[in-house]
Amino acid sequence: MRIAFDARLDGAERADWWRALTEALPDDDWVDALVEGTSSARWRDAEVAVVANPQPGRLAGCGRLRLIQSLWAGVDRLLGDTTLPAGVPLARMVDPVMNQAMAETATWAVLSLHRRAFDYAAQQRRTQWRTLPQRRADEVPVLVLGLGEMGRTAASRLASLGYAVSGWSARPREVPGVACHAGRGALAALLGAADIVVNLLPLTPDTRGLFDRARLAQMRPGASLVNLARGAHVVEADLLEALNAGRLGHAVLDVFETEPLPTTHVFWFHPKITVWPHVAALTDLRTAAGLVAANVEAVRRGEAPAHLVDLGRGY
Ligand code: NDP
Repeated sequence: MRIAFDARLDGAERADWWRALTEALPDDDWVDALVEGTSSARWRDAEVAVVANPQPGRLAGCGRLRLIQSLWAGVDRLLGDTTLPAGVPLARMVDPVMNQAMAETATWAVLSLHRRAFDYAAQQRRTQWRTLPQRRADEVPVLVLGLGEMGRTAASRLASLGYAVSGWSARPREVPGVACHAGRGALAALLGAADIVVNLLPLTPDTRGLFDRARLAQMRPGASLVNLARGAHVVEADLLEALNAGRLGHAVLDVFETEPLPTTHVFWFHPKITVWPHVAALTDLRTAAGLVAANVEAVRRGEAPAHLVDLGRGY
């Protein structure tokens, strides 16, 4: 089968992906966008495209595609490409290894906020020896927004550590040990009841800018926000205002409106903001290449690939 590959990655990382993918599917006829170009006949004849945030328009001429496979879990940028061939199934990366990594990051952030690790780090920089109040985990209400692959793994892990975990999704979900709620109408009360809010929603027209001034004002005074999903979920100026006014306690941010976060951005230097460089859950090419191969084999057998994006919902 002819497989087109394109990834907006630096040279070494791109080469690693090429090697892992072509080793996982050695008998297929791979076409690299950088080597053969996207106007070549071989590219246009591809039946599968394996991509990581390609430049918009790269797949426009591919009229024979039976599957577009994203190497990333979030497909918001890919769906923003209005030239994607219509009607082609789009699969996203769903890897239990990544879900575990995300759960680890959420756990780190929640534990750090609960046990005041960021405050103690600031005290250390000031050589200040001071005891801060300590609460039990079951006294810390945590809200996880999004109960999909990553959200429910993170929520379960946090519940197993004894936190009082609530979860929120579009449709009703059940996660053992987690108080699950669904629908926009439930959100204000959930935000008002949580000390720590962990965002694991996909970026869609419905969730873009979710954390604006009005929504941040619904959060409990002194509460903290952990954004591990997409930068555009948060209106950065409104978050800054809430932190500066003392309405919110702390923000742990892994994702930003502009990435890389510009070196002059105020978030880098803010005492109430912890910055990570979009690393909450990296795609692991050792497992991901096998998952891509399994989806290509499904197409070859004429079966439905796994983890197709619902194009109507946008995730
Ligand atoms: P899923 O698609 O599996 O889950 C999405 C969840 O969000 C579902 O529970 C869904 O509800 C819920 N949801 C979607 N829209 C709404 C809405 N309007 N209101 C309420 N709930 C909503 O996604 P994943 O868990 O796999 O990934 C989540 C996100 O994490 C990705 O989209 C990506 O942006 C981000 N990500 C970040 C990474 C990082 O390193 N920082 C790495 C990988 C992903 P329902 O269950 O009803 O469908």
